[in-house]
Amino acid sequence: MLVSQLLIPTLRETPAEAEVVSHQLMVRAGFIRKAAAGVYTFLPLAWRVVKKIEAIVREEMDRQGGQEIMMPIIQPAELWQESGRWDVYGPELFRLKDRHGRDFCLGPTHEEIITDLIRGEVNSYKQLPLLLYQIQNKYRDERRPRFGLMRGREFIMKDLYSFDRDQEGLDISYRKMYEAYTRVFQRCGLKFRPVEADSGAIGGNDSHEFMVLAASGEAIVVYCPRESCGYTANVEKAESPPDLFNGREEPKPVELAATPGMRTVDQVASFMGVSPKKLIKTLIYETEKGPVAALVRGDRDVNEIKLKKAVDVINLELAGPEAVERITGAAAGFAGPVGLPGVKMVADQEVESLRNAVSGANRRDCHLVNVNPGRDFKPDMVADIRLIKAGDPCPGCREPLVEASGIEVGQIFKLGTKYSKALGATYLDQNGQVRPIVMGCYGIGVTRTMAAAIEQNHDENGIIWPAAIAPYHVVVIPVNARDKDQFGMARRVYQAMLEAGIEVVLDDRDERPGVKFKDADLVGYPVRVTVGSRSVASGELEMRLRRDGSTSMVPEAELAGSISRFLNSDQETI
Ligand code: ATP
Ligand code: MG
Repeated sequence: MLVSQLLIPTLRETPAEAEVVSHQLMVRAGFIRKAAAGVYTFLPLAWRVVKKIEAIVREEMDRQGGQEIMMPIIQPAELWQESGRWDVYGPELFRLKDRHGRDFCLGPTHEEIITDLIRGEVNSYKQLPLLLYQIQNKYRDERRPRFGLMRGREFIMKDLYSFDRDQEGLDISYRKMYEAYTRVFQRCGLKFRPVEADSGAIGGNDSHEFMVLAASGEAIVVYCPRESCGYTANVEKAESPPDLFNGREEPKPVELAATPGMRTVDQVASFMGVSPKKLIKTLIYETEKGPVAALVRGDRDVNEIKLKKAVDVINLELAGPEAVERITGAAAGFAGPVGLPGVKMVADQEVESLRNAVSGANRRDCHLVNVNPGRDFKPDMVADIRLIKAGDPCPGCREPLVEASGIEVGQIFKLGTKYSKALGATYLDQNGQVRPIVMGCYGIGVTRTMAAAIEQNHDENGIIWPAAIAPYHVVVIPVNARDKDQFGMARRVYQAMLEAGIEVVLDDRDERPGVKFKDADLVGYPVRVTVGSRSVASGELEMRLRRDGSTSMVPEAELAGSISRFLNSDQETI
């Protein structure tokens, strides 16, 4: 293609609303334009990248025996009511009505549709296992659409669903997808980690997320620095042995202490001259099953995902100051577990072992000293509800855990029989017994992967595409496009590369060389070939690699060969 004819509207200025590098660079380099919050048009360069990622994904799904299908984006509410998710999914679900007033939604995911398909089409063990997938737009009315393609409201996802006879079959399908995902992200040129994950709204038990480690990532991952151990988990899911540091003190009698205006853990701890580890932090939540008090040690935070699971609720919101007052009878900041009726109380494991602790007294400006769990209050439930953080011991080997930010580019789940039971997707086994089909589901964010690739591969001048997903491999730049000899030579090498199967563009624009070089760096072509007056005289051209800026002079006849060798070496050959 000729650059003069390509729609690549590059910008000199960084767009003000773009907070992260990938968003800034995709707008500046002329890849995307916004239509609405979290909704984008993909311009030619971006669409080429998307298609390349999709091609890699497709190859790896097919390699594992996946069959590609295409399901509807518009989904009838009835199926979501059958699975029980119509009321659970909340405001993220784009809902709409047809002209007859029937309810539909735009698919945020496709468990319902595919389980409905399978219950109609599969009835014998002979038809299992089955791996079906699609690559399609998904719709989620995200609370905070942001970071460009990273968190869109319309985005492209590959979703695969596995159907097996039993748990062993599911384990095999899951391993196949784990392997496929590893290969996909390796081939895309990304540095990533598979991490243990919570299974969230989709349900099920086992789950892994594939995280691209990058500072802009919205997910927090903790991992064990000991490679031989390898424990890695999303903090939403991470576990660590509880710290039961002061379990052996003799219990003392409870006392009321005046703590005027002391509402935060730090204020109370320093006022009382004790470590925050001696405090019981009491957080009041509102849920559809009534108020819940979550108790964690003063130096801890509540992991709301663990808490939600522990109390088995769908909606969990921290109570506002008025609700706290209504529920505890005292101003926010003074809630405590002693004498707190009508509230379901969940204590973290570490709280249960505290002795002579300090807690709120459910009275304004007062705390209780020498509070002893078991003696002074009895929680309804003891569970692991604390948020794990860097420094906590690894559950595998007790080495202090390390924290990093990650971008979740894919997630795989063992669903089990959650959807097949809800929708009645069963099969007859060898003995003629009716059994529920055992399912898994597996998603890759195609457009988020593109953004993540930029987060990991850029410098101050622009994008540095890994060769496997670059929109084009090479840009040929005649320094002076009006110079007949230079332009003639540029056209020749451009043609030769096209014939060698290299994806190349010729920057034939009548622009200053500085402008073309800047654009080449911004767009991020892996290789730049410059044709100047010296090239015409010597027959050698400058080949420059975007990743390290290294240059070499290559004779015209050898250029296509050199570039092909470089491109092959830059792509993971697996
Ligand atoms: P997140 O926790 O980031 O909201 P999720 O866990 O809801 O994501 P899944 O349901 O697991 O996402 O979807 C599979 C994949 O789809 C994710 O791993 C991610 O790559 C991609 N994805 C999810 N939500 C978005 C979004 N709003 N914009 C772009 N990609 C997304
Ligand atoms: Mg996820």
